[in-house]
Amino acid sequence: MSDDLAPTFRSDVTVELVRSAATDTDVLWAARVSTKGEQSLETIGEDPEKSKGLINFLMRDRHGTPFEHNSMTFFISAPIFVFREFHRHRSGWSYNEESGRYRELQPVFYVPGPERRLVQQGKPGRYEFVEGTAEQHKVTSEAMEESYRASYRAYQEMLAAGVAREVARAVLPVGLFSSMYATCNARSLMHFLSLRTKNEQATVPSFPQREIEMVAEQMEEHWAQLMPLTRAAFNAHGRVAP
Ligand SMILES: Cc1cc2nc3c(=O)[nH]c(=O)nc-3n(C[C@H](O)[C@H](O)[C@H](O)COP(=O)(O)OP(=O)(O)OC[C@H]3O[C@@H](n4cnc5c(N)ncnc54)[C@H](O)[C@@H]3O)c2cc1C
Repeated sequence: MSDDLAPTFRSDVTVELVRSAATDTDVLWAARVSTKGEQSLETIGEDPEKSKGLINFLMRDRHGTPFEHNSMTFFISAPIFVFREFHRHRSGWSYNEESGRYRELQPVFYVPGPERRLVQQGKPGRYEFVEGTAEQHKVTSEAMEESYRASYRAYQEMLAAGVAREVARAVLPVGLFSSMYATCNARSLMHFLSLRTKNEQATVPSFPQREIEMVAEQMEEHWAQLMPLTRAAFNAHGRVAP
């Protein structure tokens, strides 16, 4: 294999906020239409304490629809096994992902970094993860890299022999990086975060796979900048999506 086809190995995932129309005031005018009708837009500059109180009330009593009048589009690079979990989130999400039929897939593969806890303990659904030993990290990196190199070599052999990309890709593993745009609103994002982050403020704990949690944490950081009052109310009310 030539040098530019040699696999590269990554331990991180990336999330870029490419576009947004999402502010706390979008929640306010949507909620206030129920009492103020068409004048609800004029109330945007109202007393900030009242606004904070309204967002808290909506979150606490699970009036969810005012949290839908906003939009965030993220560009995400992560392994395919993360996207398999991600695409289970159907409501309030739109996705477009790179194609393994229309383009040659690049040799970028996931290998857990030294901070990734490798050893699982406890019952299914409630696993706790503890540090791996240096030896376990070594075995993991070496086994993954060897396997990735072999599968990418087989992929290239088939392409060189004239086999279609959609057939040859069958040998590539779920540790291969992919990329996608994902668009959501604050309500669908909160539902995703409630399931895909582990957080001590959550009244209903979740036990997500660490790699999708790495994506979720970066998305939450972007969202917290855009909608700080909504994010604070989400935390204050147990990280349950309204
Ligand atoms: C820790 C963890 C472990 C998991 N393990 C597994 C596993 O082993 N196997 C597996 O297959 N999946 C597993 N999943 C995926 C899980 O079952 C859900 O598919 C995923 O979390 C998306 O949740 P959701 O359906 O609530 O989200 P969305 O699809 O975004 O739906 C949001 C909400 O809309 C409503 N809704 C959407 N569609 C329907 C519908 N058809 N009917 C009624 N209401 C609907 C529901 O209220 C739902 O909560 C796991 C998820 C987590 C977080």
